[in-house]
Amino acid sequence: MASKSAPHFDTDVVVIGAGPAGAAAASQLVRLGHEVRVLERSHFPRFSIGESLLPQCMSYLEAAGLLETVQAADYQFKNGAAFTRSTRTTAIDFREKFSPGWGTTYQIERADFDQRLIQAAAAYGAQVAFGVTVTDFQPDDERPRVSYVDEHGQTATLTARFVLDASGYGRVLARQLDLERDPRLEPRMALFTHLEDHIDDPSYDRDKILIGVHPDDATIWYWLIPFANGHASVGVVGAIDTLEQYGDNTEERWRALIDAEPRYRQLLHNARPVRPFSELKGYSADVSSLHGPGFALLGNAGEFLDPVFSSGVTIALRSANMAAPLVDRRLRGEAVDWQMEFEAPLRQGIATFRAFVDAWYDGRLQTIVFNEAQPEGLKRMISSVLAGYAWDLENPFVAAADKRLTTLAQLCDDTPPQAQQSPL
Ligand code: FAD
Repeated sequence: MASKSAPHFDTDVVVIGAGPAGAAAASQLVRLGHEVRVLERSHFPRFSIGESLLPQCMSYLEAAGLLETVQAADYQFKNGAAFTRSTRTTAIDFREKFSPGWGTTYQIERADFDQRLIQAAAAYGAQVAFGVTVTDFQPDDERPRVSYVDEHGQTATLTARFVLDASGYGRVLARQLDLERDPRLEPRMALFTHLEDHIDDPSYDRDKILIGVHPDDATIWYWLIPFANGHASVGVVGAIDTLEQYGDNTEERWRALIDAEPRYRQLLHNARPVRPFSELKGYSADVSSLHGPGFALLGNAGEFLDPVFSSGVTIALRSANMAAPLVDRRLRGEAVDWQMEFEAPLRQGIATFRAFVDAWYDGRLQTIVFNEAQPEGLKRMISSVLAGYAWDLENPFVAAADKRLTTLAQLCDDTPPQAQQSPL
């Protein structure tokens, strides 16, 4: 009697997309002994937005074997965030935080950073194909299939034992499988460019991202992310219809908005753009599920909130860091509860970031950060979340973020700073 032949697989794992999530997942999985094929639509190095890292992501890079290549790059050191509104400036130092772990990180140009990560993953043994676009996906518990097209129009299909979608804004599986859901955030827009910044003000701290608030509209905010080479990324974010009133095109709007913020206007008076002005609209996204038969979604391919607080790359790396050992177990024949072991714990930290994002736009968090006399213990808890430690349930501002932020904002609003007591 003929024996039933074992099913054929082209590879163990297919990873769609070679951004931070894809590179970290690929790196971790090949280091665990699996065969990994990464399919990337573009050619690296390629521009991407998302240039300010959070200290928490350093441990995820380390776990993926990618920290060394990042440290070798001599990127701009980062130890915190400074905030400016009208003429007031305040700062949070991430080294003074509640949660244990890294307190510093880098500000990076993504073209170089992403290339380094995927090159390191390839050096560990990941097979990376550039210029191939994934066009179709067939979910299956045992044998999911991915189809793609290359730049010559050649199509092919790969069978794998598991598929990780790390396609970021490409949102391949969310679209294919109709997983998109309302991100529950107002559609906003970002206008940005890179500059030779020529900042000569000695009071400017290059070791921090500078977050500004429009003097007349607290829902519009700015980022200034300096790089090690004298360049900086400068962007403005606000509601789409509000920002569109600032001019007829991206550059006009960006210039009018920078001109409206006194600290940015002063710091950037000698700056010269070094790349075209760009805009991104309606970038927030979410899905009804981060997993399904034979697949899981990583980073921006799943949920993306908002650029304020720079949580995107940290969430992307965290998702890869959580998924890789689960895929490993799955490939070794163990049962994995993707809902309990991946989606629920990952979403818990994203929900913490969401509470902070909501509190930024409704003004509570701005009330808190511009009140420098908050009780020291609470400041450390806020600092922890802003440093990316959104999964540390020991921190009351993680475990009950929305409630604590409301209480602290009321305290900062109502009470003279010297009379403040911890409400916790
Ligand atoms: P990506 O980095 O988007 O990588 C996805 C990859 O998949 C890409 O290389 C793409 O080419 C590839 N791909 C797409 N479709 C296909 C396909 N069909 N087939 C094959 N490959 C495909 N985050 C921060 O941490 N710090 C910040 O300061 C920050 N600033 C931001 C500012 C703005 C205005 C915005 C909108 C976001 C910002 N972010 C920031 C978020 C950050 O950009 C993302 O969270 C991060 O890039 C997500 O990484 P990823 O690996 O999930 O996806």
